[in-house]
Amino acid sequence: MDYKEHITIVEDWPKEGIRFKDITTLMDNGPAFKSAVDDIVEYAKKLDIDVIVGPEARGFIVGCPVSYALAKGFAPVRKEGKLPRETIKVDYGLEYGSDVLTIHKDAIKPGQRVLIIDDLLATGGTIEATIDLVNQLGGEVAGCAFLIELTYLNGRDKLEGYDVLTLMQY
Ligand code: 5GP
Repeated sequence: MDYKEHITIVEDWPKEGIRFKDITTLMDNGPAFKSAVDDIVEYAKKLDIDVIVGPEARGFIVGCPVSYALAKGFAPVRKEGKLPRETIKVDYGLEYGSDVLTIHKDAIKPGQRVLIIDDLLATGGTIEATIDLVNQLGGEVAGCAFLIELTYLNGRDKLEGYDVLTLMQY
C-alpha cells in the first residue's frame, strides 16, 4: 500500500521552514492505518520480542495496536513528571529543542528483548534517548520501527548496528 498518499504535509508547522508530516490523515483511514500497523506486527514477529516501548505521544498511537496484536506488553516513555511511580530519566535533544524522557524503573526486566516504536524518525534524538532508557534497565533493543523516516535529517546514523524498519521515507 502507498501510505504516503495518506500523509498530509503541513507547511511551516510548528514553525517556519518545517514541513510537518501529519499522520492523523493516515490514522483516520481505517484500512490504511490497519495495514501500516500490520506491517509492523509482521516485522515484530521475526524479532521474537518480549515488550514494546513507545515515546509519547504518537509512539503510543502506533505502538499500542502492535502490542495488542502480539499480546506483548507496552511500556510508555514520557516527559518528566508524567509517570506516577519511580522512574529513570535521560536528557535528550530533538528537532525543536531539548527535553527529558522517563520510563518506569520496573517497565523492562534485564535481558528482555524490546521493540521501540514511534511515528517518525527525524534527527534520531528521541530514539537515541529511548534506547538509552532501555539499556539503563538492562533491556536488549531488538528493533526500532517507525511509520516515517526523514532521510535528510540522518537519524539512521544514530541507529548503526540496530535493526530498523521504516514504512515511508522522505
Ligand atoms: P527526532 O527526535 O528524531 O528528531 O524527532 C522525532 C520525534 O519528533 C518523534 O517522536 C516525532 O513524533 C516528532 N516529529 C518530528 N517531526 C515530525 C513530523 O514532521 N511529523 C510527526 N508526526 N512527528 C514529528
